[in-house]
Amino acid sequence: MSAKQGNSIDKHAEASLANLERIFTLPEGADSTLMRLDREISENLAGFLRERIVAVEKDLAEVEQDFAESRLPEQPRFVAEQVEFLLEKLVAHSVHTAAPSFIGHMTSALPYFMLPLSKIMIALNQNLVKTETSKAFTPLERQVLGMLHGLIYEQDDAFYEQWMHNPDGHLGAFCSGGTVANITALWVARNRVYGPRPGFRGIAREGWLRALRHYGDEGAVVLVSERGHYSLSKAVDVLGMGRDDLIAIPTDGANRIDIAALRQRCQQLKQQNMRIMAIVGVAGATETGSVDDLQALAAVAKEYAAYLHVDAAWGGPTLFSNRYRHLLAGIEQADSVTIDAHKQMYVPMGAGMVLFKDPQAQQAIVHHAQYIIRKGSRDLGSSTLEGSRPGMALLVHSGLHILGRQGYELLVNSGIERAKAFANLIKADSHFELISEPVLNILTYRLCPQALQHWLQGADPEARRQANLLLNRLTRQLQKTQRERGRAFVSRTQLNPERYQRLDTLVFRVVLANPLTTDAILQQILQEQWQLAQEPQFAEMWQQLTALSALPLPGP
Ligand SMILES: *Cc1c(COP(=O)(O)O)cnc(C)c1O
Repeated sequence: MSAKQGNSIDKHAEASLANLERIFTLPEGADSTLMRLDREISENLAGFLRERIVAVEKDLAEVEQDFAESRLPEQPRFVAEQVEFLLEKLVAHSVHTAAPSFIGHMTSALPYFMLPLSKIMIALNQNLVKTETSKAFTPLERQVLGMLHGLIYEQDDAFYEQWMHNPDGHLGAFCSGGTVANITALWVARNRVYGPRPGFRGIAREGWLRALRHYGDEGAVVLVSERGHYSLSKAVDVLGMGRDDLIAIPTDGANRIDIAALRQRCQQLKQQNMRIMAIVGVAGATETGSVDDLQALAAVAKEYAAYLHVDAAWGGPTLFSNRYRHLLAGIEQADSVTIDAHKQMYVPMGAGMVLFKDPQAQQAIVHHAQYIIRKGSRDLGSSTLEGSRPGMALLVHSGLHILGRQGYELLVNSGIERAKAFANLIKADSHFELISEPVLNILTYRLCPQALQHWLQGADPEARRQANLLLNRLTRQLQKTQRERGRAFVSRTQLNPERYQRLDTLVFRVVLANPLTTDAILQQILQEQWQLAQEPQFAEMWQQLTALSALPLPGP
């Protein structure tokens, strides 16, 4: 609230039908605060973000004070006042996700055209739940799904001619993101694996208890590597399974699912009369970017008659690249594949997709209602988890056409190659240690002087454990300090590298998706981290590390 607000009641707008009518029909004046802001954003978005977001971090508890009011606003507020509030309290303390030095998360810069085009989407406010509220948006969305299906499954033209707009089938489901996409995939898996047959009307009607009884199973599980995304845990939970029914399989030294361990576990589960409902492959792990051996996974899934889903929320767009699509070889054998358009397709958030190999797979989750989504209609709401949905497909369609496959290939290639270059920088810098090699455009590393790396390899287990704890503290505090200084951002996660006997190891995580991130920026990020590590706050950690290793460490 503005400071003026307390002493001038007449600052409030008046709640009247006439005013409401104006709000719904008339734009703000050309020189109003809102329109000036609109122009500022349209003419110079980068400048707007740079100037309006304050770089130095304010404590979240402090920010909460600006949002402490719990009572509903009784009287209307002038638009101009709300805009000022937003600029001062919200925009200023947002995160500059588009900054080229913001390389910690999967949320990155957007191509400029997304901004005006998203206005069209909002202006039209189409609802994809049914054709009566979306008309041309429904075929557009189905076309986008068709194109992405083709990217993965590469069926012939006749196939797409038959299925793309066919009300009896679906090439996939558009949704708000990878989480809902994964839930949708496992929902289909569940309903197919426990489908109707004589004497049983299917799990969708009769539920888990009767399904297990009818099929004679002790229980059902989903298997994924320990790098699997936590959305899968949500998925088994909402599908009426237990979280323990999502089984994490160990990974190899390159963070890929260990196929031998998977086979062994499947064998064991079979002996316990457990149903392997689905195996989930990871194509672009959130933490490390690693890609499972999808061909081997397909073979195991076949052997155990399990549904195969591939979570390519991050890595899916690698398929645009003729140079690197081989990294996902075998993906075409999956029953379904998740791809997030709001990650490596550079669409604003709220755009996920799950593609199904079999155009009739989604029939397993179809729901009908009389007033809407009637049988035989083209309404998409019958086969999606979500109900009302915006026309985000417009933006995916635009990305696909304005960038083209070739444009996406360039983005994918440059991300992968920049990650390789950064890995080389890290390896060449004696202060840092690369923890996971990039396969796609994600890598992890930590600050750990070379001499200390060597010492760790040979140290006795207890000394190694203690040194590792200190290094974890160093990583945690460095990451936080760098974020707070506001010049650059890398994220952090915990891995268990083989090199160090699987000790819990905190690492910096870097996601290189912003095409504006240069090698110079990456070099600066390393430099800043090394400089920060010389500050007095880290002195005690260095002393303890020196005491443990008896090395002359270059700390403060
Ligand atoms: C991001 C991600 C998800 C979740 O997607 P949301 O869009 O955040 O819901 C799932 N799996 C993987 C591998 C991801 O990277």
